[in-house]
Amino acid sequence: MSTGAVKAIKLLNLAGAYWRGSEQNKMLQRIYGTCFLKKADLDEHLFKLEEAKRRDHRKLGQELQLFTFVDEAPGFPLFYPKGIVLRNNLETFWRELHAKAGYEEIRTPLIMNRSLWERSGHWDHYQENMYFTEIDEEPFAIKPMNCPGGILLYNSQLHSYRDLPLRWSELGLVHRHELSGALHGLMRVRAFTQDDAHIFMLPEQINEEVKGVIKLIDSVYKTFGFTYHVELSTRPEDSMGSDELWEKATDALRDALTELGMDYIVNEGDGAFYGPKIDFHLQDCLDRTWQCGTIQLDFQMPEKFDMCYIGEDGDKHRPVMVHRTVFGSIERFIGILTEHFAGAFPTWLAPVQARVLPITDKFNDYAYEVASKLEAAGVRVEVDSRNEKIGYKIRESQMQKVPYMLVVGEKEATSGTVGLRKRGEGDLGAVDVDQFVADIAAEIKERK
Ligand SMILES: [Zn+2]
Repeated sequence: MSTGAVKAIKLLNLAGAYWRGSEQNKMLQRIYGTCFLKKADLDEHLFKLEEAKRRDHRKLGQELQLFTFVDEAPGFPLFYPKGIVLRNNLETFWRELHAKAGYEEIRTPLIMNRSLWERSGHWDHYQENMYFTEIDEEPFAIKPMNCPGGILLYNSQLHSYRDLPLRWSELGLVHRHELSGALHGLMRVRAFTQDDAHIFMLPEQINEEVKGVIKLIDSVYKTFGFTYHVELSTRPEDSMGSDELWEKATDALRDALTELGMDYIVNEGDGAFYGPKIDFHLQDCLDRTWQCGTIQLDFQMPEKFDMCYIGEDGDKHRPVMVHRTVFGSIERFIGILTEHFAGAFPTWLAPVQARVLPITDKFNDYAYEVASKLEAAGVRVEVDSRNEKIGYKIRESQMQKVPYMLVVGEKEATSGTVGLRKRGEGDLGAVDVDQFVADIAAEIKERK
C-alpha cells in the first residue's frame, strides 16, 4: 500500500495472529489502524469510535437496568422491568398508529407442524436457521417468520373482494438460529419480536397500500428524529413468477415512491425470490445506517397456499400479499434507540420520566404529594426519599438519565413549587407544580 497522499494515520489495536491462521506457523503481530487524507476526517472517525463505545447498548442496557444477557440463554435477551416499560411504550405507539391506519391485530402460534413449513418452503430453504421440537412423536418447528401462520388464519375464512384489503398486524415472536460468533447484543439475537403485518389485497390496490405503508414508516421514523434512505430491490436471477407479474409489481413500488416524491436507490437483482421490495435504512447520530423497515410484495405464498377471494364475478381469484415491518425487530430497534440517544430517551419513552428529590426527609411528605399529582396525570415518577445528600441524589438521577428532577425543600413546600432540573439543561429554577404537571403531560402526549 502506498501512503503517499495520506496525512493522518492512527494505530488502534494490536493482536497476535498465526501466519495464515495456522497454529503450526509463527505468531505474528497484527496491527489495526486507520488512515485518512485529512486530519479532521481522522479526528471525526476517532470521535465516532469513542462515542460508539460510550453508547454501546450492551453496557447501557445493564447500567440503566433495561435488559441483559446470561450464559444460560445465548442470544436470547432478558428484559428488566424498566426495559419492559420502554418496550411497552414502543408497542403502544405502534398499536395506536396501526389502528389509525386501518390495521387489525392478530396472533399466531409459535410452534407449528412440519407439514406447514414444507408447504411454505421454509423446510427446504430456511432449515439451517430454524429450531425444532416434537409433539406426540410428530415433528414441529418454532416459527422463524410470521407469514405462514397469518396465511392459515386467512385461509380459515372465506373472503370477498369487498373485504379487501385486509391489514393484519402481528407483534410476532420469532426464533432464528444464528451462529454464536454472529451474536451481538440486541442487534443480532436468536429470538426477537417482528412488528409484522401482512396485507392481503386486490392487484389494483397495490399502489395505494404501498403508499400507505411508506407514509406510516415515515411518520414513525420522524417521531424519533431519524433520517433515512430508501432502496428498491428488483428481480433476482433465481426467482419465481412471470416477467409480466414482476414488471407490474416493480412498477407499483416505483410508482408509489415517485408519487410520494421520495428519492431512492435501485438495487438491481436484489429482491426476494418471491417479489420486489423497498427497504428503509435509518441513520443514527453516528451516521451508521440500520435496515429496519421493509415492504415486500409476494406472489409466491398466495400460490403455494392456494389463497383466494371471491371476485365481483363470483369466481375465485388470487390475492396479492405484502409483508412489511416498521421497526423490523422491537429488540434491535431498542438497541438502536439506546445507542442513538445514549440512553437519554425522549421523555415519552423514558422508563422514569421524573424523579422528586426531597432535600431532607422533612420534605418527604411534600415530595409524595407532588409525585401523586404527577402520577394522576399519567407520569412515571419516583421519589428518592433516601437519607442521602441532595447532590448525591441529583448525580444518581443524572446517571440514570431521568429527564426531569424536581428538588423540593422548605421554599418549594411553602410556595407549592418544585426546583426544576432538566436533563442536559441543568437548573431551571422554581416552577409551579400544577404548571409542571401540565407541561410534562403535554410533552408526553405529543411524543416530543
Ligand atoms: Zn411475512
